[in-house]
Amino acid sequence: MLTGTDIQFAVECLRKGELVVMPTETVYGLAANAFDSLAVAKIFEVKKRPFFDPLILHIHDLKQLDELFEAPLQDNYIKLINKFWPGPLTLVSSKTSNVPAIVSSGLSTVAVRMPSHPMARKLLQELDFPLAAPSANLFGCLSPTIPAHINLEGISYILDGGKSLVGIESTILMVDGNEPQILRPGGISLEEIQEFFPAAKIMQKTLDPLAPGQLESHYSPLKPFIILNASTQVHKEGAGLIQFSAASSMFDFHFDKRLMLSKNGDMLEAASNLFELLHQFESDPDISFIYMEPITENGIGVAIMDRAKKAAFRWIE
Ligand code: AMP
Ligand code: MG
Repeated sequence: MLTGTDIQFAVECLRKGELVVMPTETVYGLAANAFDSLAVAKIFEVKKRPFFDPLILHIHDLKQLDELFEAPLQDNYIKLINKFWPGPLTLVSSKTSNVPAIVSSGLSTVAVRMPSHPMARKLLQELDFPLAAPSANLFGCLSPTIPAHINLEGISYILDGGKSLVGIESTILMVDGNEPQILRPGGISLEEIQEFFPAAKIMQKTLDPLAPGQLESHYSPLKPFIILNASTQVHKEGAGLIQFSAASSMFDFHFDKRLMLSKNGDMLEAASNLFELLHQFESDPDISFIYMEPITENGIGVAIMDRAKKAAFRWIE
């Protein structure tokens, strides 16, 4: 697949309605002109993504919000984005008619964020339209955090921006009411949002999820993936462990291989390595079962465990 750092080439492809993979600080995104329904439709086709799963729009300038959100954001939300944009925070609010229905899966709202990755920013600055970009993986599979993870057909170019530093997807926040609700935990923690909105909370799962990121199963490796607890029976052969830090010794089981999320137990580093280590075990012929040590659900640990539980869900026996 054509991979490189040629932003101008990526710009040309996007202007023609083609798909480009762009690096962001969360994960790599599969991008198309958000105002071109046909180009956006290609994203769903390439990812085999169901049309009920809406996309996030990417912008580089606050002014772009005016053409996407129907109403101006309340002042307290402006404070929030001044603090966290550019960065891994997505806002959901009522959309204008500029946003094609295919982007928002027919919902009356649209999700928007401003990525901080310098290459994504340069790319967006060259364009006079926002980019619709979900993660650059097949639907339901692991998100890519380096170009080597990308395994999609029908894309014109991969912009190589190195490793995604946050490593898990953005926090998605519904901002239509007075108090924001987290639809999906992510790179910005609940506690960080509560500094601005003490009553902010994580939305409880509903049967008809507003955010398909709320589906119980998502982001799955292709091999059995199990979160350890004291009674887990670990397979004797082909078992790989994803452990939190060098200090974790709570599990005395035998594992053929161990990978570490963060040697020094740094939560941010652990988040940035989660998908990477899952990819490593997924493609390791010696490993048939992937185990993970649970992480304390504080701060960004909530988002890490959210992804881990979703990845493990379909493998629960
Ligand atoms: P991703 O595949 O990581 O880009 O995730 C995009 C996610 O954003 C979707 O799966 C939804 O969970 C969420 N999302 C996008 N648009 C909306 C919206 N209008 N309302 C609620 N959630 C949304
Ligand atoms: Mg995704």
